Amino acid sequence: MHLKRQKDGYSFDIVPLKYKTIHNRVGITIESSCFNAVKDATNNPHIATFLKKAFRDQVDFKKLQKGDFVAIEYEQKSIDGIPWETPTINAAYIKRGKKEYFALRESEDSYKFWTNSQTTSSEIVSAPEYISFANPVSHVRITSEFTYKRWHPILKRYRPHLGIDFGGRTGTPIHAVASGKVKFAGWIRGYGRVVKIDHGYGLVSLYAHQSKILVKKGAYVKKGEVIGKIGSTGRSTGPHLHLGIYKRGKAVNPHQFLNRRVKVKSSVVSKKVVVNSESLKKELPKEAQIEYNKLLIAGSKNIYRWKEYSSKVKIVIKESKKDGKRVKIRDEKGDA
Ligand SMILES: [Zn+2]
Repeated sequence: MHLKRQKDGYSFDIVPLKYKTIHNRVGITIESSCFNAVKDATNNPHIATFLKKAFRDQVDFKKLQKGDFVAIEYEQKSIDGIPWETPTINAAYIKRGKKEYFALRESEDSYKFWTNSQTTSSEIVSAPEYISFANPVSHVRITSEFTYKRWHPILKRYRPHLGIDFGGRTGTPIHAVASGKVKFAGWIRGYGRVVKIDHGYGLVSLYAHQSKILVKKGAYVKKGEVIGKIGSTGRSTGPHLHLGIYKRGKAVNPHQFLNRRVKVKSSVVSKKVVVNSESLKKELPKEAQIEYNKLLIAGSKNIYRWKEYSSKVKIVIKESKKDGKRVKIRDEKGDA
């Protein structure tokens, strides 16, 4: 992109960028460290890291010995020879002694695994995702815990308290417990001035009784960002923050989240299937068998490189003005 200064601002030229997608198949006979061997053969640390993670429940990489082999089929986009985005592994094969392990990519981030061990299991594994949560106030003083039965001083009866109360002076900043999108900012009877933040994965945090709200509905906030100030609006006996955390609409104890890194997407989905076959190959669906055979060929030769081909793709960088801000739009076209 070229930037030109003009008397009333800047103008942009649109220059299409071209990237190549390189498909590679690499077979490696292990000499010492599998991780390093893969890194050296692919010249890409992402692949070794991915492989280690993906197979972690099946294969202990430290136990791979001289003579074991690994074969990987992957694709890597690059612009002017510089890798662009992380590579995608389409299939991988590991042979450790007599045991064989095979992984085939099924969708965006899920893989199907097979082994030829006696109790072969079939699992769909997707990369786990985490959200880390922080405290909503810098000086933590809890005045009321999450409970299904609490004596309510104003209503004078037992009621569930589906959140945690943090004591604090009026005006004390309230911080978002995790990044997300403001889904509500306004008044709710009983809660007074309230902000609700949607963190995705069905998780919502709620901040009640605020004296002042500092964010607007629809805004994106980062973890720790100040979203409002402690107050005593709504049904409240004194200034405090009521923090609620909801999982798919159901109130959960915020202690399960605060100051924790919470897995929001599980690493293993789908059931375990036990099969009795000795032969891995026979267990594989047809498309997987083809991949498996290709990987076997790759794995039978020490660092065998499969063909490379490229697809030329135009990436047009467009500039547009939105709310006075320049927004870049990446437009990808013409994938082969
Ligand atoms: Zn409360």
